Amino acid sequence: MSKTALLIIDVQNDFLPPDGSLAVPDGRAVIPVIQGLLDQTKWDWDFVVPSQDYHPKGHISFASTNNGEPFKEKLVTNVHGVEYAQTLWPDHCVIGTKGAEIERELRHSFEPWKNKMKIVRKGCHCLLEAYSAFDGYLFEATDPAEPPTDDGSSVPRVIMPSDTALGKYLREQGVGKVVIVGLASDFWFVQPARSKNIPTDPEGSVLQTSLSSLGASFPTLLVKPATRGIDETATSKGFEKLEALGAKVAGKDGGDWEAEVREWIKY
Ligand SMILES: [Zn+2]
Repeated sequence: MSKTALLIIDVQNDFLPPDGSLAVPDGRAVIPVIQGLLDQTKWDWDFVVPSQDYHPKGHISFASTNNGEPFKEKLVTNVHGVEYAQTLWPDHCVIGTKGAEIERELRHSFEPWKNKMKIVRKGCHCLLEAYSAFDGYLFEATDPAEPPTDDGSSVPRVIMPSDTALGKYLREQGVGKVVIVGLASDFWFVQPARSKNIPTDPEGSVLQTSLSSLGASFPTLLVKPATRGIDETATSKGFEKLEALGAKVAGKDGGDWEAEVREWIKY
């Protein structure tokens, strides 16, 4: 049986009510479900990899940096000189703030896994946006929270998911399967201009990490009860897209999702 990694995406204070600056309304509902997945009497993951959105002040994705309005798009230019439409966000997950920290109760549940755990931090460069955990940097679970020191210009402009730090690490460790939980399964905001036009690619770190995982050729499973997004329809569309690309989604229709996950891991 190949090894399985559990990726826990962005369960950080800024993505959680009541105080998060970019809170997913029902985001706290994922915490007890993920804690259940970290119960060592029930589950035996070979690796556990929590991720953190981890931005310096003045990050390219912030409305405040770009003189723009949150949740609107603006053309920006990244460190490689590439111009693109960035969705602007309120300041969030700024390095050194409480908002960037992984939720406290969940962090307690990490303790027994520390020897099987790395942390991914992403969006660490001022002029680079990152939604996928595969675009982040790997840190030891015990490392102090220091970001990389370069400005991002050393990061290749195009990098295949399998060649990223996380992709290489998982492969080197013999991981053959990836299970993904966390926030957010979409970040799609209901705006008049877009309300009839749900994007096929809602921004959201769970979706983008899953796309990378498939892109790196890992059989990939999402645990729906352990994810939340802003909009149920956008989330469902995102999951449909992932399934069309070969991912498995457990717990879609209620029922015994734990049995579905165990079955998939065994297969
Ligand atoms: Zn961010």
